Amino acid sequence: MRIILKRIILLFNIFLILAGCTSITEKGSRVINTRSGSERVDGLTYNSKGQNFRQRFIILHYTVSDRERSIDLLTNKDVSSHYLITDRENEPIYYLVDENKRAWHAGVSSWGNFTNLNDNSIGIEIVNKGFILKDGKMEFYRYPSWQIHKTAVLVQDLIKRYEVEPQNILGHSDIAPQRKQDPGPLFPWEELYRDYGIGMWYDETDKEKYKDAFDNRITPEEVQKELRKFGYGIAVSKVYDEQTKNVITAFQFHFRQNKYDGIMDAETFAVLKALNEKYKK
Ligand SMILES: [Zn+2]
Repeated sequence: MRIILKRIILLFNIFLILAGCTSITEKGSRVINTRSGSERVDGLTYNSKGQNFRQRFIILHYTVSDRERSIDLLTNKDVSSHYLITDRENEPIYYLVDENKRAWHAGVSSWGNFTNLNDNSIGIEIVNKGFILKDGKMEFYRYPSWQIHKTAVLVQDLIKRYEVEPQNILGHSDIAPQRKQDPGPLFPWEELYRDYGIGMWYDETDKEKYKDAFDNRITPEEVQKELRKFGYGIAVSKVYDEQTKNVITAFQFHFRQNKYDGIMDAETFAVLKALNEKYKK
């Protein structure tokens, strides 16, 4: 009796599953290669409701190297990116790794609940020498406006095709703040947001609301929690340690580009609060 009941439940479940799959989009067969040759297998294609694109993030980089070395590194070594934008205005964009495959550009990385962002991101490298140290200070190289335009057009296309959210368009330094500085404080994030609708930027009115929010009662723990809430991989160590300084620097590279000393202040904190209010409710 119990067996019969189990079978009825099983049949009912199968009925439910089939009833849920109403949209048959394609009927066809596939050729499967086996050890003894190839075999034709009949199949049906359903368009399941539960799915998303693998390409959730777009990560921007600079190469540090010149054009020739960048091409060599990204094609012949253990690093790669999906796209390379060189420093030659009339040169097409290099497409180096299929968008459905993993490129090796992010390394050890995290954002929000995601880790190892090679798994779910598109990497774009831009030929730019990065920075030089002058009297112990980092001096960064500018990006020509045509290079930014080229990048923006590519990113817009990717956003459209993969429905990438603004919160997931980030720099390498955002997802690996302990190791990386790219694309650096001269990468024009605000311009990309305003002129091309790319990525995140805060609203001035929100920032104004929080202009006095940072005072000596704000503990390192609160700062770390705000940065963590935004997405940064940061430990709540309750002190202003090296890792916190690196994360604050990464944040300033992206959102407060005229001061990137890694020290939290009223302006940086107001921007952080404004961004959390807008994007991380
Ligand atoms: Zn990078």
